[in-house]
Amino acid sequence: MQFIVEHKEGGARTGKIVSSHGTFQTPAFMPVGTQGTVKAMTSKELETLGAEIILSNTYHLYLRPGIEILRSAGGLHRFMNWDHPILTDSGGYQVFSLSDLRKIDEGGVQFRSHLDGSPHYFTPESVIDIQRHIGSDIMMVLDECTPFPCEKEYAVTSNELTISWARKCQQRFHSSECLYDHQQALFGIVQGPVFADVREHSARILTDMDFEGYAIGGLAVGEPAGQMYEMIEICAGILPQDKPRYLMGVGTPENLLEAIERGVDMFDCVLPTRNGRNAQFFTQNGAINITNARYKDDFTPIDDNCECHTCRNYTRAYIRHLFMVKEILGLQLATHHNLYYYQWLMRSARQAINEGRYFNWKQQQFVKLRNSSYIIN
Ligand SMILES: [Zn+2]
Repeated sequence: MQFIVEHKEGGARTGKIVSSHGTFQTPAFMPVGTQGTVKAMTSKELETLGAEIILSNTYHLYLRPGIEILRSAGGLHRFMNWDHPILTDSGGYQVFSLSDLRKIDEGGVQFRSHLDGSPHYFTPESVIDIQRHIGSDIMMVLDECTPFPCEKEYAVTSNELTISWARKCQQRFHSSECLYDHQQALFGIVQGPVFADVREHSARILTDMDFEGYAIGGLAVGEPAGQMYEMIEICAGILPQDKPRYLMGVGTPENLLEAIERGVDMFDCVLPTRNGRNAQFFTQNGAINITNARYKDDFTPIDDNCECHTCRNYTRAYIRHLFMVKEILGLQLATHHNLYYYQWLMRSARQAINEGRYFNWKQQQFVKLRNSSYIIN
């Protein structure tokens, strides 16, 4: 994997990442394909709306369809017919957020499946092995996601465990190979809740370990946005300039723009897809909820400025009707538009950085988005 920084404006930067499954431009937004599918989208549609890399979840794929099926299929790219880059998380986040009866020890984490209660044990080594079976272009280390709020003492202990797991993941990564005919990269994850010194410590140690890229994890879990931005700044100030930085699970359009300004290159979030399925549409002038009665005879597009398939072909009134009668086409059109919007946001941010006008452009977007209130679960 190769990361090339192209332009910089303050902390913000544009670049590209070259992987075995092609190149993607940064800052990049990765649509979330939890179960090996971005809900309601074919791979062709994902290409059409501008996605260059997607994310999938190790925990979910490990439980279903299971690693034997993925191995037989020749990896996730072939299984889901997506011939572009894929990033997988390590499963840590889902173990901590979805499963029951977690028990953490030095060696790993014991948990029960959220599906059938069956017992499982993830170790730093096994999550690398699972991601080798998935064949993702970018794999993540196993980490413990601390809750918010979190006591300082717990944060410190947890962070040491995450660092020791990162070492074990890296060892396993170096002593194993991709099962298919391509290269895989491994990213470290900076944890440390909202404690500046814990984040600093984590970022320094992981930098010394020399990963191919770095994620900033454990944010947007309930802390105020200001604290999140502060933690991003601390991490970006320490992490190496020549490696990509990935902010996990964030966030709203405003979050993304603030993080880009602080040096983040990659994002993933369920907001465009999940909120779309809940009738919320992101537009260049703020979010709207299409089930609102005011749209029942509104025969204009969702967003006049948007060039996506949904906006070029369907009206607000029709899409509202689809949601009111619970037709699945509504979910497809919403997902398509919202993902297109997130790709537009990244494309526009990249262009603004390349032209040295990012800060002003960002301020203009904030004015347009100021009345938005997002559905956050
Ligand atoms: Zn659109």
